[in-house]
Amino acid sequence: MEIDRDISPGDEADRASYFIETVVDDRVKEAMLKAAEIPKGTAGECAGCGDYFSRLVDEMCGKCRDKFSKYYAL
Ligand SMILES: [Zn+2]
Repeated sequence: MEIDRDISPGDEADRASYFIETVVDDRVKEAMLKAAEIPKGTAGECAGCGDYFSRLVDEMCGKCRDKFSKYYAL
């Protein structure tokens, strides 16, 4: 199966979505972990645990992103 995908220089969220969709590739998983450290994030309630954080990325705190990234990687 060939995935033809145009990677444009979008914002961090666009790139994170791209990485999440392509976690079948170990190299991409590494890139996703690196990318997860880069976004500046926003303040608010975590979609995963419901606690308030001053820095959320993709609406989740770092702890929940780590937790859910395991599921994405399966
Ligand atoms: Zn959380």
